Amino acid sequence: MCLGVMAKAGANLHRAIPHVWEVPTGGITGLNNLVDPDEISMPVHHSLNQTVLSYTTRTCLSCIKNHLEADLKVCTQCKMAYFCGSSCQKEKWSRHKLVCKKIRQGSDLITFYDEMPKQMIVDTNGFLPFDDAYDNDLVLEDGQDEADYYDDVEE
Ligand SMILES: [Zn+2]
Ligand SMILES: [Zn+2]
Repeated sequence: MCLGVMAKAGANLHRAIPHVWEVPTGGITGLNNLVDPDEISMPVHHSLNQTVLSYTTRTCLSCIKNHLEADLKVCTQCKMAYFCGSSCQKEKWSRHKLVCKKIRQGSDLITFYDEMPKQMIVDTNGFLPFDDAYDNDLVLEDGQDEADYYDDVEE
């Protein structure tokens, strides 16, 4: 799904270059490192990263030749990965195939985009709007008011 959403970004894909927040083993304690996903432990993220780079820089996914150095062809499936020839395509297919089909499917996810939460604009005091005010139904004994209720809860 993550891949699909990125592909849905379409023309904005240059903003979707995936990095991964590296969470230290002790948990999140402060600033954490933004790392490039590596090929062994994060093959899918790595492949997506390489594919997006190939697309945004218009370079061969395998040998990194650019469009001035080679006659690049774009992958017919995902329309994102560029290859300078069939040998480079074969060389990288085992990796690229991890994301190729998903990227293609992602471009059809427009309906999903409509279901995403909408941005809520804060008011001039910095508060989010309330949808509804609702009674939280305190169960008050006779003669007890709201302040007493909270005192009781606090013990
Ligand atoms: Zn190449
Ligand atoms: Zn592809």
